[in-house]
Amino acid sequence: MTEKSAIIIGAGVAGLSTGIYAQMNGYKTQIFEMGIKPGGLCTTWERKGYYIDGCLHWLVGSSPKSSYYHMWQEVGALKDKNVIDMECFNRYETADGKSVTIYSDIDRLAAHFKEIAPEDSAFIDEFSAAVRFFSELDLPADKAPELYSPLDGLKMMTRMAPYMREFKKWGKLSIKEFAGRFQNPLLRESWLLFWPPEFSSVFILMTLGWLHTKNAGYVIGGSLELALNMEKRYCELGGKVNYKSGVEKILVENGRAVGIKLTNGSEYKADYIISAADGHATIWEMLEGKFMDQTVEKYYEMPLFKPLVFIGLGVKRTFTDLPQMVSGLIIPLEKAITIDNKEHKHLNVRIYNFDPSFAPEGKTTLEVMFESDFAYWQELSQDTARYKAEKERIAAAVVSALNKRFPGFSKQLEMWDVATPVTFYRYTGNWQGSCEGFLMTPDNMMLQMKKTLPGLDNFYMAGQWVMPGGGLPSGLISGNHVVQVLCKRDKRKFKVTTA
Ligand SMILES: Cc1cc2nc3c(=O)[nH]c(=O)nc-3n(C[C@H](O)[C@H](O)[C@H](O)COP(=O)(O)OP(=O)(O)OC[C@H]3O[C@@H](n4cnc5c(N)ncnc54)[C@H](O)[C@@H]3O)c2cc1C
Repeated sequence: MTEKSAIIIGAGVAGLSTGIYAQMNGYKTQIFEMGIKPGGLCTTWERKGYYIDGCLHWLVGSSPKSSYYHMWQEVGALKDKNVIDMECFNRYETADGKSVTIYSDIDRLAAHFKEIAPEDSAFIDEFSAAVRFFSELDLPADKAPELYSPLDGLKMMTRMAPYMREFKKWGKLSIKEFAGRFQNPLLRESWLLFWPPEFSSVFILMTLGWLHTKNAGYVIGGSLELALNMEKRYCELGGKVNYKSGVEKILVENGRAVGIKLTNGSEYKADYIISAADGHATIWEMLEGKFMDQTVEKYYEMPLFKPLVFIGLGVKRTFTDLPQMVSGLIIPLEKAITIDNKEHKHLNVRIYNFDPSFAPEGKTTLEVMFESDFAYWQELSQDTARYKAEKERIAAAVVSALNKRFPGFSKQLEMWDVATPVTFYRYTGNWQGSCEGFLMTPDNMMLQMKKTLPGLDNFYMAGQWVMPGGGLPSGLISGNHVVQVLCKRDKRKFKVTTA
């Protein structure tokens, strides 16, 4: 077998997955990463002895019954890790003392909802039946869709046929429309606080299904530990990660990608170039917009996951009275927090009472996120003093709000840290600071995006910018699929090994 080489741009989960599967299949690879550590968005950082996690809430495929599970094993992500399944997804507390909880167990959730809103029993039965139904669904990922034969297509259609009716029914219903189906005002209000209004409901029902079957667990230690595990696996397979190696340009000769040029001017050549970095920068900057058509242009008109203002807090206290929640507690604000002229009337606080490794004993990390536009922060960041003051103002408003819910909070505060959409952009290069790529909407939920660009040979893309909905599984799966395509092209039998 002649040795073939590949250059991978980006050491996020997608780049690492691509590298791991490529090494397993005899490709000689190197990853070029502009940052100083693996993981990209899947990261954790330390402040004053507390750890703040910029990603991991739930890992789809954490159940051994899932077909993603063996892939997470193959890439070594879960090696020596404890995975826990939390009791609740989140909880909304109203100002007048009521609360609505999304329990991970769908039977418990349905009973709780019916207690709040007996008038909505029929709809609660309808959607909880859909959650149970979707909880049986194991999304097939073993074979790259690019390699499907007509027979594979037929098999897939047969496998998915029972789900298609439910997919169509819930897929075209946005969260806003779903919320409108509740007669009860509290459930209606809560549902809109739990998820973005433009999201496709099917995505949420599937998530609830995964929570119900314990297939969306949390990995103790958090995001960076998971990424470091993958980096270790990649290096053990003979791969090499070059850090502080930002790629400026993809070199093209006669319609073929042949190498890369780094920001420091050095050039590297390989048989294949795979970008697992931001899609927009890859197409419009590294390739100068020379390889595209209407399809590609249309992709980048899809709505994005909004960027975030992300506040990490460290307090000298515990929260053992609250259940462990994937996403956290939503509380109303007495005084709205305004960011870029947008009023935020609620605060979603994620409380790390589920991972002792995030703070010293007796202390806890908390995280609060607000969606906010990139342009506002980009403009503000030009003026360091104003940028810093705005971050401080938001952090102070958050602490004051939490002090009302948790008396004494301000005095227990030992650490605060604010990341903005500009921070996310600076550290990962993601377009508009987006936290997860393209939003999964009723319009794109069945879209199979291309991982190649028109007119450019020897070039592939992996990661959240080639799979609407993004997330860690998008990196894992797209990396695996790109390597399957390479193997087919090079007449190699695709093979995997387990860590
Ligand atoms: C707050 C938050 C919570 C999330 N929660 C979850 C969750 O619970 N579950 C889940 O599944 N997903 C979650 N996600 C989404 C998930 O983190 C991302 O979808 C996923 O990590 C994307 O992986 P990726 O490898 O495709 O891209 P990235 O992580 O963006 O990796 C791209 C890499 O390329 C590098 N790069 C960029 N440009 C260049 C260049 N020019 N040269 C060299 N290197 C370059 C970057 O530095 C980066 O390391 C969350 C995201 C956020 C922000």
